Amino acid sequence: MLSRRTFLEIDLTAYINNLMFFSRKLSPTKVMAVVKSNAYGHGAIELSRVAIENGINKLAVAFVEEALELREAGVKIPIIVFNYFDPEYSKEVLANDLTITIYSEQQFKRIKERVPEGLKVHLNVDTGMRRLGPDVESALKLAKDIVDSGYFLEGVYTHFAVADERDESFSLRQLRDFRRFLESIRKIGITIPIIHVANSAGALRFNCSEFDYARIGIASYGLQPSEAFQINELEPVLSWKSVVSYVKKLKKGDSISYGRTFIARKEMTVATVPVGYGDGYNRKLSNRGEVLIGGKRCKILGRVCMDQFVVDVSHLSKKPKIGDEVVLIGKQGEERITVEEIAKLIDTINYEVTCTITSRVPRIYRRRENSR
Ligand SMILES: *Cc1c(COP(=O)(O)O)cnc(C)c1O
Repeated sequence: MLSRRTFLEIDLTAYINNLMFFSRKLSPTKVMAVVKSNAYGHGAIELSRVAIENGINKLAVAFVEEALELREAGVKIPIIVFNYFDPEYSKEVLANDLTITIYSEQQFKRIKERVPEGLKVHLNVDTGMRRLGPDVESALKLAKDIVDSGYFLEGVYTHFAVADERDESFSLRQLRDFRRFLESIRKIGITIPIIHVANSAGALRFNCSEFDYARIGIASYGLQPSEAFQINELEPVLSWKSVVSYVKKLKKGDSISYGRTFIARKEMTVATVPVGYGDGYNRKLSNRGEVLIGGKRCKILGRVCMDQFVVDVSHLSKKPKIGDEVVLIGKQGEERITVEEIAKLIDTINYEVTCTITSRVPRIYRRRENSR
């Protein structure tokens, strides 16, 4: 049973449209759907299924645990694990046909001790992130070692550091260095079936059509991959809804919530919303955020608590009643609150806003009748 207390409405049609937008735009380069961190909070199992139904043939996650969860849910297509791999998981990785990332000689040796052969791997080459991966110079030796070891070196990739920023020079340098690496690897006779470079922002800005896949995360959820440019074709996938739990009149001088950080300067009507930081609604939205009630913006007054917060509804001509819809993210009437708006208010990026919505909030999945 679904309580309407609060839930995320996940618009699968929007997700499909976003994926198709990229598939068309990037063709012949294919889209690898990045569904790490529970598909950026949207629900990895359901979205992976929908992606596969719509022709996506590779998924990516950060960790083995995430990939295993998808396998358990019946996801059969290749899944690439980008990040740290605990060799303890070797048996599961082999049994579930997962593709892991090799990013250093030392890590490679550690894995090799556990799994002598048969692993399918991608090599992450560092061209500027300085996070994982050997630099272009040492990557060649590692590639050779992998091939000689009896592992299948299926792919190589690199990652942009500033694909979302206005200045393109660093990204172009990364691309140039990576191409140099690819050339040297070809020269020694190693063929790599799958090469991938771009994330969402990179795929929209740089011509990567010579590569086999683009790794699309944020933009597939209809969220803007950069503050430097706006992609109007993207449809936000997630809406966050709740209801009014209480309505009351305040007298002049009354204070609201912990710490009494809001004091009413006049008589007001306020409504309580039963969502808090325990749901991932950020406490920094205290006295800053807004929600939609009756198609109008209503300001948060006082501190966001673990399970609830209070908003001003004095300006609404029709006073809300208990059970009326509240929109925290998404559209109501003519108004819309975007993930990006919230990110800006709390000084972070859209990625973090959706990733931190907790498992206390149920996700419900909808398809629109007439997709465009
Ligand atoms: C998360 C991730 C992506 C996806 O990036 P977006 O900006 O969300 O498109 C791509 N590649 C790697 C290696 C990642 O970790």
